[in-house]
Amino acid sequence: MPELPEVETVRRGVQAQVVGRRITAVEVGRERTVRRTSRQALIDGLTGATILAANRRGKYLLCPLDTGDELMVHLRMSGRLLVAAAGTPRPAHTHVVMHLSGSPRQELWFVDPRTFGEVVVFDPANVDVELPELARLGVDPIADGLTRTQLATLLAGRRRLLKPLLLDQHVVAGVGNIYADESLHRARLRHDRLADSLTSREVGRLRDAVVSVLTEAVEAGGSTLTDTQYVDIEGGQGWFQVHHRVYDRAGQRCITCGKADIQRVMMGGRSTCFCPRCQH
Ligand SMILES: [Zn+2]
Repeated sequence: MPELPEVETVRRGVQAQVVGRRITAVEVGRERTVRRTSRQALIDGLTGATILAANRRGKYLLCPLDTGDELMVHLRMSGRLLVAAAGTPRPAHTHVVMHLSGSPRQELWFVDPRTFGEVVVFDPANVDVELPELARLGVDPIADGLTRTQLATLLAGRRRLLKPLLLDQHVVAGVGNIYADESLHRARLRHDRLADSLTSREVGRLRDAVVSVLTEAVEAGGSTLTDTQYVDIEGGQGWFQVHHRVYDRAGQRCITCGKADIQRVMMGGRSTCFCPRCQH
């Protein structure tokens, strides 16, 4: 599932190639992609609009339009946003096509085999009603910055396990399973520590680990795993997966200590990978 670094990579692609262009026509195939509103609402909201910017909060890609509305794209499990020359054969599961002004003639595709993703046009003045979860999003460690003091405040008094807390988008926005496991490993903290049991040194290590892991992953263009279809807007793969130390490495020797094997446990229906020696 695309997380902050993957969505940030897509955002940079949109910034470079799509911002400033007008959407001349819109096609919507599968209605599930526009389930929050409707096919007609998306067509009416986008046709003739110019994309003014490409922003991101957590895993949400947000593009202000010259109409005053904003385009929101959420990739969820398997969504991809791709720029292609007009007339190029479209891949299966292309649910939304935006025709772009300018030369060369290009289209912006939303492709999503598993159809959990969403494309929405909303009024930012009415975000609490139209996209309530966006209004309640937590701190984005890259877009907002995350200080040690802020993280200490977020963890204080929380009788919750550390990893589910990191995955809670209302607390920290953009971190998913890959980057939670990698950040906890780098911070030498177990996933099942109680959030309010961390010393201030440990909070500092966790803050530094979250920010550095996410920053390095953005520089690497995100992680493209064998079982997911994440690519950037030109179809290129990320390569941060070669730097993963625990995620998807269960049973393999820990690269950090070289003395223990990575373990995998299930927690709330999701897998967690960690080194029992480095993270104790
Ligand atoms: Zn280790």
